[in-house]
Amino acid sequence: MHKISKLGVLTSGGDAPGMNPCIRAVVRTAIYNNIPVVGVRQGYKGMIENDMYDMETRSVSNILSLGGTILKTARCLTFHTDEGMETAYQNLKARGINALVVIGGDGTFTGALRFSKKYPDIAVMGIPGTIDNDLYGSTYTLGFDTATNTVIEAIDKIRDTADSHDRLFFIEVMGRDSGAIALRAGISCGAEAILLPEKSTAIDDLIKQLKSGESNKKSSSIVIVAEGDKSGGIYDLAEAVQKEVKNYDIKVTILGHLQRGGSPSSFDRILGSRLGYAAVKALINGHSQKMVGLEANHIKITSLEEALTQHEFKLEEDLLEMVDVLSI
Ligand code: ATP
Repeated sequence: MHKISKLGVLTSGGDAPGMNPCIRAVVRTAIYNNIPVVGVRQGYKGMIENDMYDMETRSVSNILSLGGTILKTARCLTFHTDEGMETAYQNLKARGINALVVIGGDGTFTGALRFSKKYPDIAVMGIPGTIDNDLYGSTYTLGFDTATNTVIEAIDKIRDTADSHDRLFFIEVMGRDSGAIALRAGISCGAEAILLPEKSTAIDDLIKQLKSGESNKKSSSIVIVAEGDKSGGIYDLAEAVQKEVKNYDIKVTILGHLQRGGSPSSFDRILGSRLGYAAVKALINGHSQKMVGLEANHIKITSLEEALTQHEFKLEEDLLEMVDVLSI
């Protein structure tokens, strides 16, 4: 059994609400089990630049309600190189760290797995933290619920103004490869159509549907477009539709980075706490090169190898099917 003498914790890749409750759980579970904890700033960059600090139970006081990550995050290209990894390894060894909890997305997990295969005396455990909800091994990832709620709140406000002016809004939400936020937010806000990276969109069908909304005397329509939709960009799409759908004044809104911010929802606070706690317990029990996730409301441990090869968000086809029916 790999006895943990000191644990490092970091957040890496894009920030996601829920990372702070997760860091808090990691730190306190480790200290509760008499394992000293070191916080690594800015992901793998902090490991290479030796930007780390000893954490105490009070280092994570009052962070449950904070969005973002108190440890900061970064994308670090140097960690892709052998030299970068070696420097990071020497820095960990010098501090007596022999286990790491990494909170991030699939890039973060790829780095962690490569690192731990190269230096097996450092145990690693991944925690899925990304608003995209696109990781294998966990039904939900940290931040997805909060980000979806943020999108819903924004779209509800846009609906008020759309309704008052007989407007059709095209709203772009985050999701370069994953339509998870678009789909959930679309159902929650009664979108007339949802355009996803996983599905190709027939513009003619979209126009037909919006025209039928017009003739059904809808006072507003909302089309949600995930960032990664392949129909050629939201502005061109809106222009093409405007030529055909004359009675609506068409507007485009890009929600952008506000989707990443904000206080984590109850769901993300609990998910972060559960996953942080489970990750430390799994390391204590001798697991390494694995991730902890939540499936059917139970903690599940999956090997990073499997998580990275299996891929990913399974589009909820049943939700998609409902869109046309519920928006008549
Ligand atoms: P998100 O889903 O929010 O994009 P992510 O974890 O996938 O999160 P990435 O930027 O892809 O974000 O990866 C985070 C970091 O992980 C990278 O900046 C890099 O330091 C490290 N990383 C990614 N891929 C590798 C790799 N093949 N080898 C070593 N390190 C890697």
